[in-house]
Amino acid sequence: MIDLHIHTTASDGTVSPTGVVRMAKKAGLAAIGVTDHDTVDAIPEFLRECTAAGIEGVPGIEVGVEHEPGIMHLLGYFIDPDSRQLLDLLEIIGRDRVRRMEGIVERLVGLGVKILPEEISVEAGTAPPGRPHVAILLRNRGVVGSIEEAFVRYLREGSPAYQARVKPTVAEAIEVIDGAGGIAVLAHPISLGLEGGELYGVLRDLAEQGLTGVEVYYPTQEQACREELLRIARSLSLAVAGGSDFHGDVKPDFTIGVGRGDLEIPDSVLHELKRRCRSKKEQGR
Ligand code: AMP
Ligand code: ZN
Ligand code: FE
Ligand code: FE
Repeated sequence: MIDLHIHTTASDGTVSPTGVVRMAKKAGLAAIGVTDHDTVDAIPEFLRECTAAGIEGVPGIEVGVEHEPGIMHLLGYFIDPDSRQLLDLLEIIGRDRVRRMEGIVERLVGLGVKILPEEISVEAGTAPPGRPHVAILLRNRGVVGSIEEAFVRYLREGSPAYQARVKPTVAEAIEVIDGAGGIAVLAHPISLGLEGGELYGVLRDLAEQGLTGVEVYYPTQEQACREELLRIARSLSLAVAGGSDFHGDVKPDFTIGVGRGDLEIPDSVLHELKRRCRSKKEQGR
């Protein structure tokens, strides 16, 4: 069993890179992928600990891209964390995340929530600051009772403290992942909010732009959704991926390896992704 979608304290997870490897070892996983939002900072420690634990480690990333409708995230697997092109993009995104956080704080203050930008910096540490860091702070302060409530009342799109941020286009993100020697996979297609012909159409466009795979196994994608995605993947020759989107306390119902209990991702999923990456390299990408 494997889990190819895991966040750490390098982004908005609450467990360190070393911690997630220990949890994966305990869960008996053969391989795991770390996919922090817009950062590769966890990768060196993560790979070291995987080697020490005798688990196969996959270096990855998750990048939000511009898309209407819904939310589109791309996963990049087998990326070189030293890729200049990748680091340049992450630098731009990181700077914009800091700018956007100032806007969120300003709005919260306007809503009567007393919060300082420095408090967000402390919560985020060296991570690119994200809304989950704000949500944790609001919960710890007792402003809200849960992370979910923080998103609903303040942070999600349409709520009063929401602020947009700069996102690369699909083409840019795929090019950068490619340039870093990786393969691009569409994360949790359910977040696009599409089905049937519309979902197929978006995936076909992505495949034409160089997408290699699609995340079929994901906690909130039920069996019928997984089956639909498997059918689409087969007809578009896309590889299949899957993972728990583990974040620790930020998403307490997503458990490493099993998601909400029913994830069971076979090792063959990783074999195929590796094969796709190799064949891309052989074809000069
Ligand atoms: P940001 O990257 O700052 O735009 O924040 C987006 C991240 O917040 C997502 O990738 C999720 O990890 C998390 N998130 C979004 N909505 C929720 C929610 N309702 N509850 C908990 N976490 C959420
Ligand atoms: Zn996250
Ligand atoms: Fe995501
Ligand atoms: Fe994620």
